Amino acid sequence: MSLAYVGMGSNLDGPQRQVTQAFSELDAIPRTRLVKRSSLYRSEPIGHADQPEFVNAVAAIDTSLAPEGLLGELQAIEARHGRRRGLPNAPRTLDLDLLLYEDRVVASPRLTLPHPRMHERAFVLRPLLELAPGISIPGRGPAAELLAACAAQRVAKCDG
Ligand code: AMP
Repeated sequence: MSLAYVGMGSNLDGPQRQVTQAFSELDAIPRTRLVKRSSLYRSEPIGHADQPEFVNAVAAIDTSLAPEGLLGELQAIEARHGRRRGLPNAPRTLDLDLLLYEDRVVASPRLTLPHPRMHERAFVLRPLLELAPGISIPGRGPAAELLAACAAQRVAKCDG
C-alpha cells in the first residue's frame, strides 16, 4: 500500500456537506482506505474574489492503485458532485487534488506530483500539517516553512 494525500475544496451547494461526503467516497474507492481526515477549514477565494469562501480539508489514504488510476477515481468523484469545469479558480461544487503520493515526482501530461501549486496555498498546507506535522514536499521543503511563507492568506478552522 502507498500513502497519498488528497486536497479537497468546495464553495457551492453546501460546501461542508460536499467535503464531508467526499471523505466517505475516498474510503469507497477500490483498493483504497481512508486513514485520516483533517478538520474542515474556511478560506478566502484565490483569483476571482467575487465568489463564496471555500471549505477545504485534506485526507490521508492508503491505496494500491497507481497514481494515474487514483487520479481517475478522484475525477469520477468530482463528476458525481456535479462539478462544472470552467475558468481556473472558478466556483466549484467539489475539487479534489492529488497532492502527494509517497515521495513520487511525476510530470506527465495528465498528472503532476507533487501537486504544482500546493506549496503556495495555506488552505492546503494547514490541513496537511494537521495530519502530518513533520512532512516535507519533495523539491519544495518542509511544509511548515512553506506555510510560514503564506502568512498573508487567511485560513480558519470551521466551527464544530
Ligand atoms: P483542476 O481543474 O485545477 O482540478 O485541474 C484538473 C486538471 O489538472 C486535470 O486535467 C488533471 O489531469 C490535471 N492534474 C495534473 N496534476 C494533478 C494533480 N496532482 N491532481 C489533480 N489534477 C492534476
